[in-house]
Amino acid sequence: QSQELSEAQIDYHAALQALVENGTRMVCTGRMHTDRICRFESLCYSTEAEEFVYFHSNSSVMLPNLGSRRFQPALLDLSSVEDHNTQYFNFVELPAAALKFMPKPVFVPDVALIANRFNPDNLMHVFHDDLLPLYYTMQQFSDLDLEARLFFMEGWSEGVHFDLYKLLSNKQPLLREELKTLGRLLCFTKSYVGLSKITTWYQYGFVQPQGPKANILVSGNEIRQFTKFMMQKLNISLEESSSEEYIVVFSRTINRLILNEAELILALAQEFQMKTISVSLEEHSFSDIVRLISNASMLVSMHGAQLVMSLFLPRGATVVELFPYAINPEHYTPYKTLATLPGMDLQYIAWQNTDKEDTVTYPDRPWDQGGIAHLDKAEQERIIKSTEVPRHLCCRNPEWLFRAYQDTKVNIPSLIHVIRQAVKTKPGPKKQKWSGSLYPGKVRDAKCQASVQGTSEAKLAVSWQIPWNLRYLKVREVKYEVWIQEQGENTYMPYILSHQNHTFSENIKPFTIYLVWIRCIFNKNLLGPFADVLLCST
Ligand code: UDP
Repeated sequence: QSQELSEAQIDYHAALQALVENGTRMVCTGRMHTDRICRFESLCYSTEAEEFVYFHSNSSVMLPNLGSRRFQPALLDLSSVEDHNTQYFNFVELPAAALKFMPKPVFVPDVALIANRFNPDNLMHVFHDDLLPLYYTMQQFSDLDLEARLFFMEGWSEGVHFDLYKLLSNKQPLLREELKTLGRLLCFTKSYVGLSKITTWYQYGFVQPQGPKANILVSGNEIRQFTKFMMQKLNISLEESSSEEYIVVFSRTINRLILNEAELILALAQEFQMKTISVSLEEHSFSDIVRLISNASMLVSMHGAQLVMSLFLPRGATVVELFPYAINPEHYTPYKTLATLPGMDLQYIAWQNTDKEDTVTYPDRPWDQGGIAHLDKAEQERIIKSTEVPRHLCCRNPEWLFRAYQDTKVNIPSLIHVIRQAVKTKPGPKKQKWSGSLYPGKVRDAKCQASVQGTSEAKLAVSWQIPWNLRYLKVREVKYEVWIQEQGENTYMPYILSHQNHTFSENIKPFTIYLVWIRCIFNKNLLGPFADVLLCST
């Protein structure tokens, strides 16, 4: 049996007997393949067939039991990228009795998390698609602790950022290729398959042009819990006391260059009276970059995956993203979306080169570095003349790649002007104050009393008690919203009130039933839930 898996010894014969008798047991969460994560006992994997195997026995369980819908299009997404057809998970089925004729299973004793990395060579993808989803999938299931083992099934080699994946658990992650060395039939004692998408904020444009996800569910708090974990694992302490403020310019050294970087650094230092340093993935260790960024007042960088490192900026810091000529910053917003997540507390500024004189293009490079020489002449000319890349789908649009891989001479006065419009005084980290916002509970004990004056006039006196949680909170401003709706009507009259009672007389008719809806509002925009509707008859 393999070295790698032998740390926790298991009783081989007992394990084999359990597999033969119990078969595979699967219970999943999620209603669709796009939000499903499955927990398995005795899920197997044939390294020859490169297929997962589900063994049926009298005791096996398969929930959901989808029948052939399991292939429409798949049981679940193996990566955190939604519904991508290269990232589907499924298994083939066999009766447990077939095990008699198969290679002897090798058991994986560790609790396993089985998933695909989406693009492990690109830092944005590493954090957004893999590390954050892996971390929060592990948070979701308590047996996925630091002793769990990650299995990456996408088929890539380790990649340049593999050290980051290693931080998530104490065990070495295993790649699909490595499984072959362990045996012909691997059986995972306990495993989870799939990744939580709850932390992702961006869709890359596979079905519609790229942009923020429609329903973002993550806030700066969860992002920062994750970065805190990563920094602990990297042995980086948050230096609260360090007094010197500075700006980081994150440069690229291979392509999409800032051509006048020295001039830019000097100008920033002068304008903001701050030390300004430059870092790059090629010249600095990942830890050093995190250490520097986690205390920086401002991060300035060309659009590109390295900007995902603003995850590590302190609250109150400023992100300045530079866009090459003809690239509309509004159309490419992974880093803007990140910086402006609620509770990230970062200030985001985009600058675009609008001067053709200041751009250097590379039409003769290979297509994947933005070359356009392979296109027909008319198309090349159209692209070269165009002043803005039209919205497009991922990932091979030649006009986009051509513009994305330009080098830029940054127009310093124009950049400083844009930054100055947003950052009036000194940029810099805020003292870490908790800025979480709490919502009111329902108002309580709502009552109404009607009085009728004559045949055409009536009054409705409504009163209620404060939400229960308000007793324990300091809230700057407490208001109540009351809707009065005549029964059977679609419209209602809304009121914003400061007190816990009010007598309504406008448009109140005698001998009518009114529905009264009341909710509490903290600080103008924190809307609580409506209390149960109050029925009032005049
Ligand atoms: N990269 C870099 N320096 C360079 C070019 C690329 O550090 O000069 C990094 C980049 O941050 C990303 C990876 O290499 O992590 C792939 O870059 P690419 O240009 O393909 O993607 P993009 O940055 O546009 O997302």
